Amino acid sequence: MADDLAALDFDAEQKRYLEGFASGIAAARMTGGLALGGAASGPPAEPTGPDAIHLKAQDRTIKDGGKLCDQEKWKRAENPFEGHNRLIAEAATGKAPKPEDNFRWRYHGLFWLAPNKTHYMCRLRIPNGILHHWQFAGIADLADAHGSPYAHVTTRANLQVREIAPEHGQPFLDGLTDLGLTARGSGADNIRNVTGSPTAGIDAQEILDTRPLAKSWHNWILNDRSLYGLPRKFNVAFDGGGVMPVLEETNDIGFQAIEVLEGAGVAAGVWMRLVLGGISGHKDLARDTGVVLKPEECNAVADAILRVFIEHGDRTNRNKSRMKYVLDAWGFEKYLAAVEEKLGRKLDRVDPAHVAPRKVTNRFAHVGVHAQVQQGLNWIGVVLPVGKMTTDQMRALAKISSECGDGQIRMTVWQNFIFSGVPDAKVAEVESRVVALGLTTAASSIRAGLVACTGMNGCKFAAADTKGDAMIIAAHVEQAVPALDVPVNVHLTGCHHSCAQHYIGDIGLIGAKVPVGEEGDTVEGYDIVVGGGFAENPKIGTEIWKAVKAAECPGRVEALLKTYLALRDGKDESFQ
Ligand code: SF4
Repeated sequence: MADDLAALDFDAEQKRYLEGFASGIAAARMTGGLALGGAASGPPAEPTGPDAIHLKAQDRTIKDGGKLCDQEKWKRAENPFEGHNRLIAEAATGKAPKPEDNFRWRYHGLFWLAPNKTHYMCRLRIPNGILHHWQFAGIADLADAHGSPYAHVTTRANLQVREIAPEHGQPFLDGLTDLGLTARGSGADNIRNVTGSPTAGIDAQEILDTRPLAKSWHNWILNDRSLYGLPRKFNVAFDGGGVMPVLEETNDIGFQAIEVLEGAGVAAGVWMRLVLGGISGHKDLARDTGVVLKPEECNAVADAILRVFIEHGDRTNRNKSRMKYVLDAWGFEKYLAAVEEKLGRKLDRVDPAHVAPRKVTNRFAHVGVHAQVQQGLNWIGVVLPVGKMTTDQMRALAKISSECGDGQIRMTVWQNFIFSGVPDAKVAEVESRVVALGLTTAASSIRAGLVACTGMNGCKFAAADTKGDAMIIAAHVEQAVPALDVPVNVHLTGCHHSCAQHYIGDIGLIGAKVPVGEEGDTVEGYDIVVGGGFAENPKIGTEIWKAVKAAECPGRVEALLKTYLALRDGKDESFQ
């Protein structure tokens, strides 16, 4: 095309413009249509701009003979943010999105979901899980206007709203913006909701307030397009060392507040320990890298870790595309050397012998009344049936927060929330108002640690009705094992994606089709694992039963708990 232009009668400036236009078209053809910068002539232009890091990784994969998986091809064909206006126009028709557009909508926080596949679910982003009461009530109003009259607290201390009709998707997202919230990047191959200690700033035990760190990282990633479209999803958590676990060991990157002692080779005081590679569904928990960071270094280091992952994560096989697999192939030292190269400096390391032991957590800290570090104030944990609240309950809960607490509602990874800043004189009122809503601040040993993923009623991957079965198991155990006097975590997850992290539960159930009869028929059921743990006892559980019918699971859980009670050496011996 440049040669053709030379023969025509344009002035020099017009030719420069048209040659640049021609090279843009050529580059776009080479890359499947994405906008790229480049020279007017010569060899193919290198990708530039915020997508370049991804395009180069894809190019390398192709050059090495790899076949990009569908999701990579979709990202390459149209950046989901550039496709936004087209997506809105198509959603307004009320039609189901094509698979590639379903994937693209997830960049905007909307998920076209099972079982009926007629509506979207919206997953928000709530850094450190904390909302103002008016935001909480506002989400309830939005759910009523555009979706279902209920919401769920997720295992990333977040909220999800369901049954949003296609043409209501964008108005729902616009409503979130009005509330100062966003759902951007909450699905697909992006960094998920940033979790932090729910009791940040109110916990006598905490070493560090995680709120500014979680919020700062949330804003860092939201405002850098090159950090979207990773090889796979990515989780980051900040643990402040408080009494309530935040499960950072199940995240790709976990930052743990620690106290470094004298003689460690770095200044004594509060640091963040870097743990990497957690992905409990793949039977791996994040491990200590030996690296310690000052809190203000976390963003830059997490950014560098991500860019190494973006460049070297697998783009061909969705089952091997999480960061864990780069770490497995390379080992920590090679990965950290690549991170240091990006940063242009060495990271600080300390021997674990020079770190003060971390204080133990409390498995009941997210339930009931607990004194805050501030004299005369309390946090109160409200139990939700596997995370579910109606919109009427949400508005009433928001009112309780504003009238009796500090106006904040703090979600936890245990699929519930806490009120904070409740004066001693208001505690009884909060408790009675919560009970009047059909909820409770007191939980049995089984309900306090009951976690269930979305399951069959809203997720196409589910092999079982996890939320329904969780409630049946809890009711059965309360009646059949009244002697249970310690918290036991039971996690039900619908498939290998492990959203409810069954491998770290004392008892974990993962959905499985159970064969019945001789004609290939199946019924819902679970494989059962035991002995998982987290916080001071991190451990991947061991499978003990395969393909147990759902109807038989309550009896199996009962048997496990009765065996534990019979064999334990007093209350101090945990189930694990
Ligand atoms: Fe869906 Fe599987 Fe996640 Fe459950 S664990 S919500 S079934 S993807």
